[in-house]
Amino acid sequence: MDIRIIKLVFFWGGLIVFLLLELHKPYRPTTFSKLKRWLTNISLSISNGLLIQVFFAGLLVIIASQGVRQPYGLLNLSRQPFWPGFILSLLLIDLYFYAMHVLYHKVPILWRLHRVHHSDMNMDASTAHRFHFGEICITGLLRLLVVYILGINYTVYLIYEIFMNLAIQFHHSSIKVNGTFEKVWLLFFVPPSMHRIHHSVIITERDSNYGVLFSFWDRLFGTLAMQVDQQKIIIGLGSHRNFAKLGFLKLWAMPFTEKSL
Ligand SMILES: [Zn+2]
Repeated sequence: MDIRIIKLVFFWGGLIVFLLLELHKPYRPTTFSKLKRWLTNISLSISNGLLIQVFFAGLLVIIASQGVRQPYGLLNLSRQPFWPGFILSLLLIDLYFYAMHVLYHKVPILWRLHRVHHSDMNMDASTAHRFHFGEICITGLLRLLVVYILGINYTVYLIYEIFMNLAIQFHHSSIKVNGTFEKVWLLFFVPPSMHRIHHSVIITERDSNYGVLFSFWDRLFGTLAMQVDQQKIIIGLGSHRNFAKLGFLKLWAMPFTEKSL
């Protein structure tokens, strides 16, 4: 089967599985309409996916035609022995996402876009689908450049994306996770407790835990924060506490209509 189809199945399948698990065993009660949040977040995801097809169909065809061959690139990772090349590729792509995430928080014009993601007032697996189209475009185009420059095998990149999408849905989920499992998971990956701190209204807490798939970048660059009382975390943005004003159209307009806070 085409790996892009597999990616799509995991993307939507993962969302359904995590949302059902949350309903079965939630971390804490929801305080805002789940149905409204789900509709908003999933509508954003679907509109982003459709617009990507409309604007970048030609580019996607060119990339797909490259297949597993990737003859260029500084590191030429696609020509390394499989496992070292594969692992180094995963690490470098994840490091790119970590660095981009830091930039989205530090550069005001990028924060305007990323703020849409942080405006969710409860956090669950659907929050992993709540991104502004501008952020999807910028991150997506730059990552193609990174994949190309480093010479990463495009199929390896798609495998990373499958892992990454599942990891993002998991660490946004509000599933009640076993404490021991979370501690072990944290050794290498981002657990929900770690990412929940990143979605806090408190800015010093928000400015931590930028990791996407692996947790060790935050450890390495001094941005890991785990000493936070999970029960006291208020999710969202201090500047946007009116749930009624966080619908689909308002989120599309948010980067252009409101100054950066
Ligand atoms: Zn963020």
